[in-house]
Amino acid sequence: MATSSELHFVLVPLAAQGHIIPMVDVARLIAARGPRVTIVTTPVNAARNRATVDGARTAGLPSTSSSSAPGPQHGLPEGLEAIDQMIGHDPGMFIKFFHAIWDLAGPLEEYIRTLPRRPLCLVADASSPWTAPVCDRLGISRLVIHFPSAYFQLAVHCLTAHGVYDRVDEMEPFEVPGFPVHAVGCKATIRGFFQYPGVEKEQQDVLDAEATADGLLFNTFRGIEGTFLDAYAVALGKKTWAVGPTCASSIMVDDADSKAGRGKSADVDAGHIVSWLDARPPASVLYVSFGSITQLTAKQLAELARGLEASGRPFVWAIKEAKTDAAVRALVDDEGFEARVQDRALLVRGWAPQVTILSHPAAGGFLTHCGWNGTLEALSLGVPALTWPTNADQFCSEKLLVDVLGVGVRSGVKIPAMYLPKEAEGFR
Ligand code: UDP
Repeated sequence: MATSSELHFVLVPLAAQGHIIPMVDVARLIAARGPRVTIVTTPVNAARNRATVDGARTAGLPSTSSSSAPGPQHGLPEGLEAIDQMIGHDPGMFIKFFHAIWDLAGPLEEYIRTLPRRPLCLVADASSPWTAPVCDRLGISRLVIHFPSAYFQLAVHCLTAHGVYDRVDEMEPFEVPGFPVHAVGCKATIRGFFQYPGVEKEQQDVLDAEATADGLLFNTFRGIEGTFLDAYAVALGKKTWAVGPTCASSIMVDDADSKAGRGKSADVDAGHIVSWLDARPPASVLYVSFGSITQLTAKQLAELARGLEASGRPFVWAIKEAKTDAAVRALVDDEGFEARVQDRALLVRGWAPQVTILSHPAAGGFLTHCGWNGTLEALSLGVPALTWPTNADQFCSEKLLVDVLGVGVRSGVKIPAMYLPKEAEGFR
């Protein structure tokens, strides 16, 4: 029988920050118990996460392996390998991207065949169902991991099983049937990943790969989602484990650099932010971030800036748009916003050390788009949420935070960003 250090797990995340970050956490959790872990991803994603993985490796933890990349052969620009890089591109690019990702099955299989012994288990992101036939051919067990909440997965399952998606209009409100708690939504706010025209095959692959998996993992914990987990396990007839919050493995780590550099190196010195926070009273600062993908429109950014200024409260605002968008930079720099709030605000133009900020005692609230990772980070660190969901599973995270757990308040957003009227876009 193999010793734990001879056991090898291969992890295959989706190429998106919100999926790679928790998968790296999962790698840490497994490796801390002895087995070897390899994360397989594309070169750009491997490079972005190299610092965290190398930091973990010096402690004897996981390795990364780059697989071949999507690129011009798939009609994609060179180096476009992650979902956040597609913002601003034609929506057709998403479809090409997913077709390209599905083609990674060949390189993954080649990589595994070169290993001296077969891995014990492959842990596949639910959005990486193309790993299923590879595991079948090679005789490897396969677990599927969900990175959105169990609440969201169950809601989508109930709506599909009861045929609701087929009989309602986009904005028509309905109560989720067969759901453990009262939940009202519409198709636009509770829509599964891949429930879009052009990726029907991929959606079916996701369902098939989950149905044939050896078990399901969720990045959650029973204390907040036990009811939804149990209902999902029964609905799918699958063994299901809650392995989260995976961020705990980063929160607990006693290494300021790897805490600050989750997903990417921060665009600001984390030590400077900590000193700034050290000078504020406990629970006094609002942290504002919309995660790695969501982009606010110029008009929303301008209004948010006015609101934060009018609040008179201290805040740290991660404005990733300011790194790439000249109009947003002008709002922050030329229109004097930063100068007017500088005595009580810190602006991060790009990637912020989010866990460092949320884990500081001065953090008193989190204005969040309700991405599941940020939601779990806030819950784990006891920071209440002010919710501003924009799409995907985020409206469900909002319902969980506000209606079920009572640890958030709504900002009042009712419709996903893609349904915003044109007049919501301009600066004035
Ligand atoms: N994040 C970060 N710095 C930033 C923005 C995001 O460290 O400036 C991290 C955040 O801590 C979380 C992840 O990126 O772990 C974002 O995942 P989430 O599910 O919250 O949102 P998504 O980006 O997937 O929409």
